[in-house]
Amino acid sequence: MLDSYKRDINYLRISVTDRCNLRCIYCMPPEGIPSISHSDIISFEDIITTVKQAVKRGVNKIRLTGGEPLVRKGIVDLVKMIAEIPGIEDFGLTTNGTLLANFASDLKKAGLHRINISLDTLDAEKYKQITRGGDLSKVLDGIIEAKKVGFDTIKINCVILESSTEPDAVAVAYFAQKNNLQVRFIHKMNLETGYFKQVEGGDGGNCKKCNRLRLTSNGNIQPCLFSESSFSIYTNGIDQAFNLALANKPKMGSLNKKGQFYNIGG
Ligand code: SF4
Repeated sequence: MLDSYKRDINYLRISVTDRCNLRCIYCMPPEGIPSISHSDIISFEDIITTVKQAVKRGVNKIRLTGGEPLVRKGIVDLVKMIAEIPGIEDFGLTTNGTLLANFASDLKKAGLHRINISLDTLDAEKYKQITRGGDLSKVLDGIIEAKKVGFDTIKINCVILESSTEPDAVAVAYFAQKNNLQVRFIHKMNLETGYFKQVEGGDGGNCKKCNRLRLTSNGNIQPCLFSESSFSIYTNGIDQAFNLALANKPKMGSLNKKGQFYNIGG
């Protein structure tokens, strides 16, 4: 499907929950967040119907995000249901990796193609500070298990403050190289001020070539991460929500004082 700037939109990112088991300092306030009530979290059925409609309209790339998608109950079943939809060529999931060691095998069997894992530092103490209490060893165990069960495309998402020459980024890049992982450097973004840069090693943030829409965890189609417009699949119907999102997708991102990374899915 084409947006009003003739960009080919073939990628749908789906935030399956706004909940997370970490509290990363650049994503969540220390006190946590007023979570969306269970009844307002998008159901698996509505996700599947939306994906099927999206595929009919030309989407062939799906990514599951959060919050932390692995905290959503039944996530493996959802992966299986999506993987069975014909026409999806690229099916990924982005995780903080802390639960991955327990899920990797089942996700692989369910049909997931690839995994992105958030890892900003290899310093256990610093990791604990950045995530407000996370255990780095669990992420490393998750990476080992994901490789063991046969995920051959594992990407590391490393958030950087200024540049990929920062000591933590250099250490993560070396770790990735040594372990045959790909690394992408994501400049720390700010929705409220509209600060973002293109992802190093990826295509996120390249507005000219933007190919994505987002489905939020409360059932809105979001045209752009850095814009405040979004369209409910419930009040508009799925097809009309896509039409409105395409028509209102901005030429480039500006700012978003309404949304949060944890309920849009980054
Ligand atoms: S800021 Fe918006 S238009 Fe630009 S790449 Fe991100 S989602 Fe696409």
